[in-house]
Amino acid sequence: THVVAEPCFNCKYTDCVVVCPVECFKEGESMLFIHPEECIDCEACVPECPPQAIFHEDNLPAQWADYLKLNAEMSEQC
Ligand code: SF4
Repeated sequence: THVVAEPCFNCKYTDCVVVCPVECFKEGESMLFIHPEECIDCEACVPECPPQAIFHEDNLPAQWADYLKLNAEMSEQC
């Protein structure tokens, strides 16, 4: 799956959402989340993200490792 990390916080762009072919972005109060079971790892969203907040789970920077779980939990709720 792909994961939305901290740089998304308070970002007002939704360029990533528009290009996702499976509509797996969920909108939280302050940031977006990707539903891990819906994401097909197509990579379309990665270059569209202005703050470069989206990573494949295998390339997620260590300081944002918690976002893997956060995306899974939050995408169920919003
Ligand atoms: Fe959607 Fe593809 Fe990005 Fe996954 S990698 S969130 S399927 S655009």
